[in-house]
Amino acid sequence: MIKRVVIKPARERTIRGRHPWLYSGGVKQLEGDPQPGDVVEVVSTHGEWLARGVYNPFSQMRVRVWTWDPDEPVDEDLISRRLHSAIDLRETVIPEAVTDACRLVHGESDGLPGVVVDRYGDWLVMQVLSFGAERWRQELGHALMHLIPNIKGIYERSDVEVRRLEGLELRTGMVQGEEPPEWITIREHGLRFQVDIRHGQKTGFYLDQRDNRQRVSELLAGKKVLNCFCYTGAFSVYAIRAGAQHVTSIDSSAEALDVGAKNLALNGFLDDRATWVSADVFSELRRMRDRRESYDAVILDPPKFAPTSAQVNKAARAYKDINLLGFKLLQPGGLLFTFSCSGGIDMALFEKIVAGAALDAGVHARIVGRLHQSADHPVGLNFPEGAYLKGLICQISRE
Ligand code: SAH
Repeated sequence: MIKRVVIKPARERTIRGRHPWLYSGGVKQLEGDPQPGDVVEVVSTHGEWLARGVYNPFSQMRVRVWTWDPDEPVDEDLISRRLHSAIDLRETVIPEAVTDACRLVHGESDGLPGVVVDRYGDWLVMQVLSFGAERWRQELGHALMHLIPNIKGIYERSDVEVRRLEGLELRTGMVQGEEPPEWITIREHGLRFQVDIRHGQKTGFYLDQRDNRQRVSELLAGKKVLNCFCYTGAFSVYAIRAGAQHVTSIDSSAEALDVGAKNLALNGFLDDRATWVSADVFSELRRMRDRRESYDAVILDPPKFAPTSAQVNKAARAYKDINLLGFKLLQPGGLLFTFSCSGGIDMALFEKIVAGAALDAGVHARIVGRLHQSADHPVGLNFPEGAYLKGLICQISRE
Protein backbone atom coordinates (compact mmCIF):
# COMPACT_ATOMS: atom_id res chain seq x y z
CA MET A 1 0.00 0.00 0.00
CA ILE A 2 1.20 3.50 -0.86
CA LYS A 3 2.18 5.51 2.22
CA ARG A 4 0.11 8.65 2.27
CA VAL A 5 -0.43 11.61 4.55
CA VAL A 6 -3.85 13.16 4.06
CA ILE A 7 -3.81 16.80 5.11
CA LYS A 8 -6.53 19.07 6.46
CA PRO A 9 -8.13 21.43 3.90
CA ALA A 10 -6.83 24.47 5.82
CA ARG A 11 -3.20 23.40 5.14
CA GLU A 12 -3.62 22.84 1.40
CA ARG A 13 -2.86 26.43 0.43
CA THR A 14 0.50 26.31 2.25
CA ILE A 15 1.60 23.08 0.59
CA ARG A 16 0.38 24.26 -2.84
CA GLY A 17 2.36 27.46 -2.21
CA ARG A 18 5.40 25.17 -1.94
CA HIS A 19 6.04 25.71 1.72
CA PRO A 20 8.08 22.66 2.76
CA TRP A 21 6.79 22.14 6.32
CA LEU A 22 3.70 20.21 7.39
CA TYR A 23 3.09 20.33 11.16
CA SER A 24 1.29 17.61 13.12
CA GLY A 25 -1.81 19.84 13.42
CA GLY A 26 -2.21 19.82 9.62
CA VAL A 27 -2.37 16.03 9.37
CA LYS A 28 -5.86 14.59 8.95
CA GLN A 29 -5.03 10.93 8.50
CA LEU A 30 -2.20 8.49 7.78
CA GLU A 31 -2.48 5.66 5.28
CA GLY A 32 -0.18 2.69 4.64
CA ASP A 33 1.44 2.81 8.11
CA PRO A 34 4.37 5.15 7.34
CA GLN A 35 7.49 4.58 9.48
CA PRO A 36 10.03 7.20 10.60
CA GLY A 37 12.10 8.29 7.60
CA ASP A 38 9.72 6.87 4.99
CA VAL A 39 8.96 8.77 1.82
CA VAL A 40 5.25 9.68 1.86
CA GLU A 41 2.80 11.14 -0.64
CA VAL A 42 1.04 14.25 0.65
CA VAL A 43 -2.55 14.33 -0.58
CA SER A 44 -5.62 16.55 -0.12
CA THR A 45 -8.81 15.34 1.60
CA HIS A 46 -10.16 14.67 -1.92
CA GLY A 47 -7.20 12.44 -2.66
CA GLU A 48 -5.42 14.91 -4.95
CA TRP A 49 -1.63 14.50 -5.03
CA LEU A 50 0.14 17.61 -3.66
CA ALA A 51 3.71 16.77 -2.76
CA ARG A 52 6.22 14.12 -1.69
CA GLY A 53 8.26 14.27 1.48
CA VAL A 54 9.80 12.46 4.41
CA TYR A 55 7.70 11.41 7.40
CA ASN A 56 8.85 11.87 10.98
CA PRO A 57 6.43 10.97 13.79
CA PHE A 58 8.90 12.18 16.46
CA SER A 59 8.89 15.79 15.28
CA GLN A 60 6.09 18.36 15.39
CA MET A 61 7.16 18.94 11.80
CA ARG A 62 5.56 15.71 10.65
CA VAL A 63 6.49 15.93 6.97
CA ARG A 64 9.23 17.88 5.23
CA VAL A 65 8.51 18.18 1.53
CA TRP A 66 11.32 17.27 -0.87
CA THR A 67 9.43 17.64 -4.17
CA TRP A 68 6.22 19.05 -5.68
CA ASP A 69 6.76 17.16 -8.96
CA PRO A 70 4.72 13.92 -9.07
CA ASP A 71 7.26 12.39 -11.49
CA GLU A 72 10.29 13.10 -9.26
CA PRO A 73 11.22 10.27 -6.88
CA VAL A 74 13.07 11.22 -3.70
CA ASP A 75 16.31 9.34 -4.31
CA GLU A 76 20.04 9.67 -4.97
CA ASP A 77 19.43 11.35 -8.32
CA LEU A 78 17.31 14.05 -6.73
CA ILE A 79 20.02 14.66 -4.14
CA SER A 80 22.66 14.89 -6.82
CA ARG A 81 20.58 17.35 -8.92
CA ARG A 82 19.84 19.55 -5.90
CA LEU A 83 23.51 19.60 -4.86
CA HIS A 84 24.51 20.46 -8.40
CA SER A 85 22.14 23.41 -8.46
CA ALA A 86 23.28 24.55 -5.00
CA ILE A 87 26.93 24.51 -6.07
CA ASP A 88 26.09 26.32 -9.31
CA LEU A 89 24.36 29.10 -7.33
CA ARG A 90 27.49 29.67 -5.19
CA GLU A 91 29.69 29.74 -8.26
CA THR A 92 27.42 32.48 -9.62
CA VAL A 93 27.07 34.67 -6.53
CA ILE A 94 30.30 34.15 -4.57
CA PRO A 95 33.34 35.00 -6.69
CA GLU A 96 36.34 32.77 -5.96
CA ALA A 97 38.40 35.94 -5.35
CA VAL A 98 36.19 36.88 -2.38
CA THR A 99 36.56 33.73 -0.31
CA ASP A 100 37.34 30.03 -0.19
CA ALA A 101 34.81 29.46 2.59
CA CYS A 102 31.08 29.54 2.01
CA ARG A 103 27.79 27.80 2.68
CA LEU A 104 27.23 25.34 -0.15
CA VAL A 105 23.88 23.98 0.98
CA HIS A 106 21.34 25.99 2.99
CA GLY A 107 18.67 23.41 3.77
CA GLU A 108 15.11 24.06 2.61
CA SER A 109 16.18 27.07 0.50
CA ASP A 110 18.30 24.70 -1.61
CA GLY A 111 15.57 22.07 -1.79
CA LEU A 112 17.37 19.81 0.69
CA PRO A 113 15.42 20.01 3.96
CA GLY A 114 17.65 19.86 7.02
CA VAL A 115 20.92 19.63 5.08
CA VAL A 116 23.64 22.20 5.75
CA VAL A 117 27.04 22.03 4.08
CA ASP A 118 29.78 24.60 4.60
CA ARG A 119 33.05 24.68 2.70
CA TYR A 120 36.29 25.64 4.43
CA GLY A 121 39.06 25.51 1.83
CA ASP A 122 39.59 21.84 0.95
CA TRP A 123 37.20 20.55 3.61
CA LEU A 124 33.45 20.37 3.96
CA VAL A 125 31.44 20.42 7.16
CA MET A 126 28.01 18.83 7.05
CA GLN A 127 25.06 19.20 9.42
CA VAL A 128 22.25 16.70 9.20
CA LEU A 129 19.17 18.24 10.81
CA SER A 130 16.20 16.20 9.60
CA PHE A 131 15.18 12.56 9.32
CA GLY A 132 15.34 12.67 5.53
CA ALA A 133 18.82 14.13 5.59
CA GLU A 134 19.81 11.43 8.10
CA ARG A 135 18.55 8.72 5.80
CA TRP A 136 20.58 9.99 2.81
CA ARG A 137 23.65 11.04 4.80
CA GLN A 138 26.07 8.70 3.02
CA GLU A 139 24.61 9.47 -0.42
CA LEU A 140 25.01 13.18 0.32
CA GLY A 141 28.63 12.55 1.25
CA HIS A 142 29.39 10.55 -1.92
CA ALA A 143 27.68 13.08 -4.18
CA LEU A 144 29.55 16.00 -2.58
CA MET A 145 32.94 14.32 -2.98
CA HIS A 146 32.07 13.56 -6.59
CA LEU A 147 30.67 17.00 -7.51
CA ILE A 148 33.35 19.24 -5.99
CA PRO A 149 36.90 18.80 -7.24
CA ASN A 150 39.77 18.83 -4.72
CA ILE A 151 37.70 18.20 -1.62
CA LYS A 152 39.85 16.24 0.84
CA GLY A 153 37.21 15.23 3.34
CA ILE A 154 33.83 15.81 4.93
CA TYR A 155 33.45 16.26 8.68
CA GLU A 156 30.05 16.09 10.39
CA ARG A 157 28.92 18.60 13.02
CA SER A 158 25.46 17.30 13.81
CA ASP A 159 25.91 18.38 17.43
CA VAL A 160 22.99 20.80 17.47
CA GLU A 161 20.05 20.67 19.84
CA VAL A 162 17.44 20.90 17.04
CA ARG A 163 18.36 17.31 16.20
CA ARG A 164 16.75 16.20 19.44
CA LEU A 165 13.46 17.82 18.33
CA GLU A 166 13.67 15.53 15.30
CA GLY A 167 14.23 12.48 17.50
CA LEU A 168 17.87 12.18 16.43
CA GLU A 169 20.99 11.74 18.57
CA LEU A 170 23.82 14.25 18.34
CA ARG A 171 26.80 13.12 16.27
CA THR A 172 30.21 14.41 15.14
CA GLY A 173 33.01 12.80 13.14
CA MET A 174 34.24 11.96 9.67
CA VAL A 175 31.73 11.24 6.90
CA GLN A 176 34.21 10.68 4.04
CA GLY A 177 37.84 11.22 3.10
CA GLU A 178 40.82 12.48 5.08
CA GLU A 179 40.82 13.89 8.62
CA PRO A 180 41.00 17.69 8.54
CA PRO A 181 43.90 19.45 10.29
CA GLU A 182 43.32 21.03 13.69
CA TRP A 183 43.18 24.51 12.16
CA ILE A 184 42.07 25.47 8.67
CA THR A 185 43.06 28.92 7.40
CA ILE A 186 40.39 30.48 5.21
CA ARG A 187 40.46 33.68 3.16
CA GLU A 188 37.68 36.25 3.17
CA HIS A 189 37.78 39.62 1.39
CA GLY A 190 41.58 39.51 1.42
CA LEU A 191 41.86 38.66 5.13
CA ARG A 192 42.73 35.31 6.68
CA PHE A 193 41.05 33.55 9.57
CA GLN A 194 41.77 30.40 11.54
CA VAL A 195 38.86 27.99 11.82
CA ASP A 196 38.53 24.96 14.08
CA ILE A 197 35.81 22.95 12.34
CA ARG A 198 35.76 20.26 15.06
CA HIS A 199 35.19 22.49 18.08
CA GLY A 200 34.29 25.96 16.78
CA GLN A 201 30.77 27.36 17.08
CA LYS A 202 28.23 26.35 14.40
CA THR A 203 30.42 24.70 11.76
CA GLY A 204 33.43 26.82 12.79
CA PHE A 205 32.85 30.33 11.43
CA TYR A 206 29.98 32.79 10.94
CA LEU A 207 29.98 32.77 7.15
CA ASP A 208 26.59 34.51 7.02
CA GLN A 209 28.16 37.81 8.20
CA ARG A 210 30.82 37.95 5.45
CA ASP A 211 29.31 40.82 3.44
CA ASN A 212 28.20 42.70 6.54
CA ARG A 213 31.74 42.63 7.94
CA GLN A 214 32.93 44.29 4.74
CA ARG A 215 30.09 46.86 4.65
CA VAL A 216 30.35 47.71 8.35
CA SER A 217 34.13 48.07 8.27
CA GLU A 218 33.90 50.60 5.43
CA LEU A 219 32.31 53.01 7.93
CA LEU A 220 34.85 52.49 10.71
CA ALA A 221 38.00 54.34 9.59
CA GLY A 222 39.39 56.48 12.40
CA LYS A 223 36.67 55.32 14.81
CA LYS A 224 36.74 54.01 18.35
CA VAL A 225 34.80 50.76 18.04
CA LEU A 226 33.12 48.38 20.49
CA ASN A 227 32.51 44.90 19.03
CA CYS A 228 30.13 42.89 21.25
CA PHE A 229 29.79 39.10 20.88
CA CYS A 230 32.96 39.12 18.79
CA TYR A 231 33.61 35.32 18.63
CA THR A 232 36.99 34.93 16.86
CA GLY A 233 37.18 38.66 16.13
CA ALA A 234 36.14 38.71 12.48
CA PHE A 235 34.42 42.13 12.67
CA SER A 236 37.38 43.41 14.75
CA VAL A 237 40.03 42.34 12.21
CA TYR A 238 38.02 43.94 9.37
CA ALA A 239 37.67 47.13 11.45
CA ILE A 240 41.41 47.31 12.17
CA ARG A 241 42.19 46.80 8.49
CA ALA A 242 39.75 49.60 7.63
CA GLY A 243 41.72 51.96 9.86
CA ALA A 244 39.71 51.96 13.08
CA GLN A 245 41.51 53.91 15.78
CA HIS A 246 40.82 51.25 18.44
CA VAL A 247 38.61 48.16 18.73
CA THR A 248 37.41 46.70 22.03
CA SER A 249 36.02 43.19 21.51
CA ILE A 250 33.89 41.34 24.06
CA ASP A 251 32.93 37.67 24.20
CA SER A 252 32.15 35.20 26.97
CA SER A 253 34.36 32.56 25.33
CA ALA A 254 38.03 32.96 26.32
CA GLU A 255 39.01 30.39 23.65
CA ALA A 256 37.29 32.44 20.94
CA LEU A 257 39.11 35.60 22.11
CA ASP A 258 42.47 33.80 21.92
CA VAL A 259 41.73 32.87 18.32
CA GLY A 260 40.68 36.50 17.72
CA ALA A 261 44.09 37.76 18.86
CA LYS A 262 45.77 35.14 16.65
CA ASN A 263 43.64 36.19 13.67
CA LEU A 264 44.80 39.77 14.11
CA ALA A 265 48.45 38.68 14.09
CA LEU A 266 47.87 36.31 11.17
CA ASN A 267 46.85 39.33 9.10
CA GLY A 268 49.97 41.23 10.09
CA PHE A 269 48.34 43.76 12.44
CA LEU A 270 49.87 44.79 15.76
CA ASP A 271 47.72 44.39 18.84
CA ASP A 272 48.17 48.03 19.94
CA ARG A 273 44.76 49.01 18.53
CA ALA A 274 42.92 46.01 19.99
CA THR A 275 41.58 45.13 23.45
CA TRP A 276 40.02 41.71 24.08
CA VAL A 277 37.59 41.43 26.99
CA SER A 278 36.36 38.09 28.30
CA ALA A 279 32.99 38.90 29.89
CA ASP A 280 29.24 38.64 29.74
CA VAL A 281 28.12 41.40 27.38
CA PHE A 282 25.00 42.24 29.42
CA SER A 283 27.01 43.02 32.56
CA GLU A 284 30.07 44.46 30.81
CA LEU A 285 27.97 47.03 28.93
CA ARG A 286 26.44 48.10 32.26
CA ARG A 287 29.91 48.49 33.78
CA MET A 288 31.00 50.53 30.76
CA ARG A 289 27.92 52.74 31.08
CA ASP A 290 28.60 53.26 34.79
CA ARG A 291 32.19 54.25 33.95
CA ARG A 292 30.72 56.70 31.36
CA GLU A 293 32.70 55.17 28.50
CA SER A 294 31.74 56.12 24.98
CA TYR A 295 32.40 54.89 21.46
CA ASP A 296 31.98 56.11 17.88
CA ALA A 297 30.56 52.75 16.79
CA VAL A 298 29.03 49.76 18.57
CA ILE A 299 28.51 46.35 16.94
CA LEU A 300 25.99 43.94 18.51
CA ASP A 301 25.97 40.45 16.99
CA PRO A 302 24.48 38.25 19.71
CA PRO A 303 23.68 34.53 19.52
CA LYS A 304 20.18 33.35 18.62
CA PHE A 305 18.03 34.49 21.58
CA ALA A 306 14.84 33.10 19.97
CA PRO A 307 15.52 29.93 17.97
CA THR A 308 11.73 29.45 17.59
CA SER A 309 8.65 31.63 18.00
CA ALA A 310 8.09 30.22 21.52
CA GLN A 311 10.96 32.27 22.96
CA VAL A 312 10.11 35.55 21.23
CA ASN A 313 9.03 37.58 24.26
CA LYS A 314 12.03 36.69 26.38
CA ALA A 315 14.31 37.25 23.40
CA ALA A 316 12.75 40.63 22.66
CA ARG A 317 13.63 41.78 26.17
CA ALA A 318 17.24 40.63 25.76
CA TYR A 319 17.58 42.40 22.39
CA LYS A 320 16.08 45.56 23.83
CA ASP A 321 18.44 45.45 26.80
CA ILE A 322 21.66 45.26 24.79
CA ASN A 323 20.45 47.75 22.17
CA LEU A 324 19.49 50.24 24.87
CA LEU A 325 22.95 49.92 26.43
CA GLY A 326 24.55 50.09 22.97
CA PHE A 327 22.79 53.40 22.22
CA LYS A 328 23.82 54.78 25.62
CA LEU A 329 27.47 54.02 24.94
CA LEU A 330 27.50 55.99 21.68
CA GLN A 331 28.86 59.48 21.28
CA PRO A 332 26.64 61.98 19.46
CA GLY A 333 26.65 61.07 15.76
CA GLY A 334 27.74 57.52 16.61
CA LEU A 335 26.78 54.39 14.69
CA LEU A 336 25.05 51.29 15.99
CA PHE A 337 25.36 48.08 13.95
CA THR A 338 22.83 45.71 15.42
CA PHE A 339 21.93 42.17 14.38
CA SER A 340 19.49 39.38 15.15
CA CYS A 341 19.85 35.85 13.81
CA SER A 342 16.68 34.61 15.55
CA GLY A 343 14.29 32.84 13.21
CA GLY A 344 11.41 33.82 15.50
CA ILE A 345 12.03 37.57 15.10
CA ASP A 346 11.49 39.18 11.71
CA MET A 347 12.83 42.50 10.46
CA ALA A 348 9.64 44.41 11.35
CA LEU A 349 9.70 43.19 14.95
CA PHE A 350 13.44 43.75 15.23
CA GLU A 351 12.99 47.37 14.11
CA LYS A 352 10.30 47.88 16.73
CA ILE A 353 12.58 46.48 19.44
CA VAL A 354 15.46 48.73 18.38
CA ALA A 355 13.08 51.72 18.20
CA GLY A 356 11.94 51.00 21.76
CA ALA A 357 15.55 50.76 22.89
CA ALA A 358 16.40 54.16 21.34
CA LEU A 359 13.37 55.74 23.00
CA ASP A 360 14.29 54.40 26.44
CA ALA A 361 17.93 55.35 25.93
CA GLY A 362 16.78 58.91 25.23
CA VAL A 363 18.48 59.15 21.84
CA HIS A 364 17.12 60.15 18.47
CA ALA A 365 18.29 57.58 15.91
CA ARG A 366 17.71 56.97 12.21
CA ILE A 367 18.11 53.81 10.16
CA VAL A 368 20.76 54.35 7.51
CA GLY A 369 21.11 50.76 6.33
CA ARG A 370 19.48 47.34 6.48
CA LEU A 371 21.64 44.22 6.43
CA HIS A 372 20.97 40.57 5.61
CA GLN A 373 22.77 37.25 5.43
CA SER A 374 25.33 36.72 2.64
CA ALA A 375 24.21 35.40 -0.75
CA ASP A 376 25.50 31.88 -0.05
CA HIS A 377 22.61 31.66 2.46
CA PRO A 378 19.84 32.13 -0.12
CA VAL A 379 16.18 32.45 0.81
CA GLY A 380 13.69 30.31 -1.10
CA LEU A 381 10.76 32.53 -2.15
CA ASN A 382 8.56 29.67 -0.95
CA PHE A 383 10.36 29.70 2.40
CA PRO A 384 10.51 33.14 4.05
CA GLU A 385 11.79 31.49 7.26
CA GLY A 386 15.09 31.13 5.40
CA ALA A 387 15.75 34.86 5.96
CA TYR A 388 16.94 34.55 9.55
CA LEU A 389 19.71 37.16 9.79
CA LYS A 390 18.73 40.80 9.89
CA GLY A 391 20.69 43.87 10.81
CA LEU A 392 20.27 47.62 11.10
CA ILE A 393 22.75 50.45 10.84
CA CYS A 394 21.51 53.34 12.97
CA GLN A 395 23.04 56.74 13.47
CA ILE A 396 22.19 58.75 16.55
CA SER A 397 21.74 62.49 16.17
CA ARG A 398 24.32 65.01 17.28
CA GLU A 399 21.80 67.14 19.17
N1 SAH B 1 30.27 38.41 15.27
C1 SAH B 1 30.83 37.08 15.27
C2 SAH B 1 29.82 36.01 15.57
C3 SAH B 1 29.09 36.15 16.89
S1 SAH B 1 28.32 34.70 17.43
C4 SAH B 1 31.54 36.83 13.94
O1 SAH B 1 31.36 37.64 13.00
O2 SAH B 1 32.26 35.85 13.84
C5 SAH B 1 27.84 35.06 19.06
C6 SAH B 1 28.96 35.08 20.08
O3 SAH B 1 28.39 35.49 21.32
C7 SAH B 1 29.64 33.75 20.38
O4 SAH B 1 31.01 33.89 20.17
C8 SAH B 1 29.36 33.47 21.88
O5 SAH B 1 30.50 32.94 22.55
C9 SAH B 1 29.07 34.84 22.39
N2 SAH B 1 28.18 34.97 23.55
C10 SAH B 1 27.01 34.32 23.78
N3 SAH B 1 26.41 34.81 24.89
C11 SAH B 1 27.23 35.78 25.38
C12 SAH B 1 27.17 36.67 26.49
N4 SAH B 1 26.11 36.67 27.32
N5 SAH B 1 28.17 37.53 26.69
C13 SAH B 1 29.24 37.55 25.84
N6 SAH B 1 29.34 36.76 24.76
C14 SAH B 1 28.35 35.88 24.54
